[in-house]
Amino acid sequence: MAAAQDPILPASARVVVIGGGIIGCSVAYHLAHLGCEVLLLERDRLTSGTTWHAAGLIVTFGSTSETSTEMRKYSRDLYTRLPAETGQETGFRPCGFIEVAADADRLEEYRRVAAFNRLMGIDVHELSPREVGELFPLARVDDILAGFYVKEDGRANPVDVTMALAKGARLKGARIVEGVAVGRVLSRGGAVAGVETSHGTVQCETVVNCAGMWARELGASSGVNIPLQAAEHYYLITGPLAGIARDWPVLEDPGSYGYYREEGGGLMIGLFEPEAAAWKVEGVPKNFSFGEIEPDWERMTPFLEKAMARVPAAQAAGIKKFFCGPESFTPDLLPIVGPAPELKNYFVAAGLNSIGILTGGGIGRLLAHWIFTGDPQADVTGIHVDRLHRYQSNPEYRRTRTVEALGMVYRCHYPTRSMASARGARRSPLHDRLAARGAYFKDVSGWEGADWYAPLGAEPKVERLSWGRQNWFPYWRAEHEACRNGVILMDMSFMSKFVVQGRDAGRVLDWLSANNVDGEPGRITYTQWLNERGTIEADLTITKLDDGQFLVVASDTAHGHVLARLRRHCEERHAFATDVTGAQAQINIQGPRSRELLQALTSADLSNDGFPFRCAREIDLGLARVLAIRITYLGELGYELYVPAEQATHVHERLVAAGERVGMRHAGLKALASLRMEKGYRDYGHDIDNTDSVLEAGLGFAVDLKKPGGFIGRDAVLAKKAAGPLTRRLLQVLVLDPEPMMFHAEPVFRDGRPAGYVRAASYGHTLGGAVGLAMIDAGEPIDQAWCEAGRWEIDIAGKRYPARASARPMLDPQARRIRA
Ligand SMILES: Cc1cc2nc3c(=O)[nH]c(=O)nc-3n(C[C@H](O)[C@H](O)[C@H](O)COP(=O)(O)OP(=O)(O)OC[C@H]3O[C@@H](n4cnc5c(N)ncnc54)[C@H](O)[C@@H]3O)c2cc1C
Repeated sequence: MAAAQDPILPASARVVVIGGGIIGCSVAYHLAHLGCEVLLLERDRLTSGTTWHAAGLIVTFGSTSETSTEMRKYSRDLYTRLPAETGQETGFRPCGFIEVAADADRLEEYRRVAAFNRLMGIDVHELSPREVGELFPLARVDDILAGFYVKEDGRANPVDVTMALAKGARLKGARIVEGVAVGRVLSRGGAVAGVETSHGTVQCETVVNCAGMWARELGASSGVNIPLQAAEHYYLITGPLAGIARDWPVLEDPGSYGYYREEGGGLMIGLFEPEAAAWKVEGVPKNFSFGEIEPDWERMTPFLEKAMARVPAAQAAGIKKFFCGPESFTPDLLPIVGPAPELKNYFVAAGLNSIGILTGGGIGRLLAHWIFTGDPQADVTGIHVDRLHRYQSNPEYRRTRTVEALGMVYRCHYPTRSMASARGARRSPLHDRLAARGAYFKDVSGWEGADWYAPLGAEPKVERLSWGRQNWFPYWRAEHEACRNGVILMDMSFMSKFVVQGRDAGRVLDWLSANNVDGEPGRITYTQWLNERGTIEADLTITKLDDGQFLVVASDTAHGHVLARLRRHCEERHAFATDVTGAQAQINIQGPRSRELLQALTSADLSNDGFPFRCAREIDLGLARVLAIRITYLGELGYELYVPAEQATHVHERLVAAGERVGMRHAGLKALASLRMEKGYRDYGHDIDNTDSVLEAGLGFAVDLKKPGGFIGRDAVLAKKAAGPLTRRLLQVLVLDPEPMMFHAEPVFRDGRPAGYVRAASYGHTLGGAVGLAMIDAGEPIDQAWCEAGRWEIDIAGKRYPARASARPMLDPQARRIRA
C-alpha cells in the first residue's frame, strides 16, 4: 500500500465510487459537478491499474454510434479545458489523427463512418496517399488507398488527465482516498447499504463499481454479473528516428494491426493483433499495481513485423521497449455501464475495450447524470450492463471470446459479421433440424439464430463478407418473397418470454404499459413501457391468457432489462414473473397461406371470425397443444406458435409435412429484418431507444391515454401532445436506386440540408431498394405532406442517393394483408 498514513474515512457518503482509474475519477468529477456528495476509494494509488500505461490516443473518428461519438467529442473538449479549470495539465495535444484504408472494403467502411461522423460535427477529411505521406513522412503510402484525417484529434497523457479529473472533483467537494480497498458491498433489503473496506465501513446509498479489470470479481461478490476479461495489450517503443517530429499526427492502419505516434524521439507502435490472449482468467491478482506483463514475443512477432512494415524506418531504429499491460474486454466490445439488475443502486462503469481514455470523460458524464437524475441523457441500449448474460462470465467463455474481441477492434466491421468464438452456447430445440435444412447461423444474444437458408445442394457458407450483395442475397430474396406470396416458417425461440401471474398481475402490467393490456382474456396487445419522461424503456407484446395470467414477450436483447423492470414492479404486489424463455419454443408461421397451412393441422376454427387478428388461444396441433397468437412482425397474415420445448420438434415435423403441400419455406433473420423494415415495424435498441418519446417514435397509436389508473410516463406523453405538432419523428426512408445497401448510420438530407440519420436498415425486396428507419429532426412540424413535399437524399459511403421518406408504412399502410 502506498499511503503514508492510515487514511481516515467518513462514516457515510451518498455515493461511493470504487476505483481511481480514469473512469472512477471521471464519474467522481461529474457527480461532484452536479452537487452530489461523493467518496472515491482507490485500493492503491490513482491510475495504478490500467490507466497509467495507456497510449493516450484521443480520437473522435471511427464510431457509427451516436452515444460513443458524443462521448468522444465531449472527452476531447473536456481534456482541452480541464487545465484552465484545475491548474493541472492533461497533456492533450491536437496533433491530428489519420485512419488509413489499404483495401477497398476498409475504404468503403471509413467513407461510411466519415459521412456519419461529419453529420455529428466532426471535421473529417479524406486524404490521398500522397497527402498522408506529407503529414507522416515515414509511412509507406504506395499501397494505401486513402487516409481519413481529423485535425483536431490527437493525444493526451492518461495519468495527467486522470489527475486533472481528480483535482476537479476535489475542487467541487469530492473526497478521494487512496490506499483503501473495498472488500465487499453491503446490502439491505435488495439495495446497496454501504461498503466494507480495508479501513472500516462506510454507509452509502449508491456504489459505482469502476474497478477496471477487477470489476468482474468485485461484482460477483454481490451477485452482480460483469463479464469482462483482461487481455494482453501491447505497444512497442523504438529507439530515436531521424526526422520524426512531435507534432506529427497519430497514424492508424488497422490492416497492419498497428497505430503509430511519436514517443521520445522514436515511434510508439501500438498493436491490435487479430488473435489475442486473455490474461489471468482465474482472477486478477489483488496487488497488481503499475504492473507489466512479460511479453509473449513468439506469439506477437508476426503481427509486429506486419505493423512495422507500414513505417519501414522503424525496423532499423531498434526496440527500446516492448510493453504489455492488461486491458479489459467485453463479449461484444461495448462498455458495461449502468444500474445492475441484481442489486438496487449498484452502478457499473467498466470494460472499456481499449478506449477508456478517449471516451472516459463522456462515460463519467453519462453515468453521473444517470445516478443523480435517473436519466443518462443518451441512448444506452447497447451499453447497459443488463444486456449481458450470466453464462458469459464462465471462464471458458471469457477465455475464448477475448481472443477474438481484441482483434475485432481492427477488423473491417462488415455489418453482417458475427462473432465466431464461444458459439453454440444457446440453441433452440429445433437447431439440428434447421441446420439440416441449410441454416446459416449467427450469434443472437448467445443463441444460434438461423440467419438465412442455403437451398438444396448449396452450402450455408458466406463466400466473402462485403458491403454489397453477398452470395446469399438470392436465398434471402426468395425467403422474403415466400413470406409475401406464400408461407414461411421462422424459428424465433430466442425471444424473451415471461409469464406473469397473480391477483395483481394485470394491475402491475397495466401500470407499466402505455397501452391497455388488461382487457378481455385471449388477446395480444402491442405496447411500450415508458419512464417518467415518456421515453421508451421496452417494446413488447403482452398476451392476457386469463385473469391474473399473462405472457410478456420482448426481443432477445431486452431480456435482462424487461425482467429487472418486471421484478421491481412485482415487489410488494401479488404478482410473480417467471422467465420461460428456454421452456417455450416460438415458431412463426407467416404469409398469405399461413391459415391454410395451420388449418390442415388443427381442429380449431382459424377463420377470420373464429380467430381474428390479435386473438390468442390454445389449439391442438398434431399431438401437441400450442398457444397460437394471430399477430405479425412481418406485415402479413400470420401466427406465432408458443410450443412447450419438448414438443417443438414434433410440431416442426407436422408443419414441415403439411408445409410441403403449400410450398412452405424456412426463413431466417435476414428475412425478418427486411420484411419488418418494409412495414416500418420498430426494433428497440436498433431504431428506437431510451431517448425517444413514444410519440416521436411514431407509436402514439399504441398509447391509451384514457385507461383508468394511467401508466408510467402518461403525464410526460400528455405534456408532449400539448406542446404542439411533432418536429422530431422516426420516418421510414427508401433509396430509389435499387443497387446500394444501407445498414445503419447513413445521413439523411431534406432539400439539401442534414435532417438525421438511418438508425437501422435492410433491403426491401418488395419495395425494390434499401429501406430504413431514420430519426428526423426538422425544426418544423412533420406530417405526411411534409414528407412528400421534401427532396430527400441519403449519403451512402460519401455518395448521395435520391430517396423517399414517409411517416406511414410504405408497404400496406391500411394493414389489409394482416387482417385478410
Ligand atoms: C497498452 C494499452 C494502451 C492503451 N491505449 C489507449 C489509448 O490510446 N486510448 C484509450 O482511450 N485507451 C487506451 N487504453 C485503454 C485504457 O487504458 C483503459 O480503457 C482505461 O485505463 C480503463 O480505465 P479504468 O478506470 O476502467 O481502469 P483502471 O485504470 O484499471 O482503474 C481501476 C482502478 O480500480 C482500482 N480498484 C480495483 N479494485 C478495487 C477495490 N476493490 N477497491 C478500491 N479500488 C479498487 C484499481 O487499483 C484501479 O486503479 C490502453 C490500454 C492499454 C493496456
